Amino acid sequence: MSGTNGPVGERLAPGVPGDRADGAKVILPGATVGILGGGQLGRMMANAGSAMGYRFVALDPTPDAPCGQVAEQIVAAYDDREAARELARRADVITYEFENVDAGVAAMLKEESYVPQGSGLLYTTQHRLREKRAIEAAGVRVAPYAEIRSADELREAAERFGLPCVLKTATGGYDGKGQWVIRSMDETGEAFETLSKARTELVLEQFIRFEKELSVIAARNPQGEIRTFPAAENIHVENILHLSIVPARVNAAVLAEAEKLAARIAEGLGVVGLIAVEMFLTADGGIFVNELAPRPHNSGHYTMEACRTSQFEQHIRAVCGLPLGDPSLMSPVVMANVLGEHVGPLLEWMAAPDEAAARLGAAPKVHLYGKHEAKHKRKMGHVNVLAKDTDTALAWISETNIWRV
Ligand code: AMP
Repeated sequence: MSGTNGPVGERLAPGVPGDRADGAKVILPGATVGILGGGQLGRMMANAGSAMGYRFVALDPTPDAPCGQVAEQIVAAYDDREAARELARRADVITYEFENVDAGVAAMLKEESYVPQGSGLLYTTQHRLREKRAIEAAGVRVAPYAEIRSADELREAAERFGLPCVLKTATGGYDGKGQWVIRSMDETGEAFETLSKARTELVLEQFIRFEKELSVIAARNPQGEIRTFPAAENIHVENILHLSIVPARVNAAVLAEAEKLAARIAEGLGVVGLIAVEMFLTADGGIFVNELAPRPHNSGHYTMEACRTSQFEQHIRAVCGLPLGDPSLMSPVVMANVLGEHVGPLLEWMAAPDEAAARLGAAPKVHLYGKHEAKHKRKMGHVNVLAKDTDTALAWISETNIWRV
């Protein structure tokens, strides 16, 4: 570890006031936070943490990665152990911005540095079956599911759950990839064949006819303090998050229940840092957890201007062992993702805004991630639209040209 010659290093020495009796370290500003991954989540962590006085170094294979533009960067593959060792040497505390961290690298970093989040949570959330079992063990419901090892097992489980049902790879899927919605029994053979190519376990889930998709981000620090952000109502287009609407348009009891379930998962899984909990809400008020992400989440970007503490500041606070910030909502907000195809119209609008925002009294706050290539469907940025209510924010989003394409 570096930082042995400043106030931070002194605080890290065993037995000095910065060390808590329960072994949780307090890492104070001036220290360097190492981030495995240098994408937009790392960039926004570094921006929030830099404002507090922390330094950042990220490891990412892409030169001039989004986080590398606002922090130091080690350019190397994620599974390059030597590069990870270099990250450990330069950082006082290590975190990550994606969950598919190589197990060998995670173990090595734990050995050679301070990784308050540990590797157990990564192990759990890297695999859908392990994740579902952990959620259930925390006393929270998931959609009925079955592990699938053969086409016969798939047919039998599909008959039991009824159609449609969803076959998913246990690892490696994101934004709807690695999934097959089975709508007829004739598809089972082909679905099994296709997803088996991923060479990972498969899981079949009952299809939940949800009314809304919600997510809650919970934070927990090593001292065991837990805070939850207000639930977001998420709208996906072609399996990619399009909008997060906050407050979610559900009744107060559902909002409270969603936050309670997220806190229970943070506690049950011994989370340190953030855990994003994606949920399905059914018409009768039932909540099923779909999946977890042990990191800042796209559906929490709304917190950047709308909450007293952003998810990124909260994450840094948690991994550094500081008391957590107040997550309360200061303004209704709708977050809209900016994909590759939206960048052109967004830049045009920035240079010459239409009168709609002023007329509606909406304040659109633009965030762009500094990615070099605006590929179709690639997440390039987002806009947090603050307004007197979410209908007004939604009205601006549908009036502007940015999301017409
Ligand atoms: P996932 O990769 O698990 O987050 O799934 C991507 C999207 O597919 C979700 O946001 C849902 O819209 C849909 N989906 C996934 N699993 C189910 C399910 N069991 N029932 C209904 N819809 C689902």
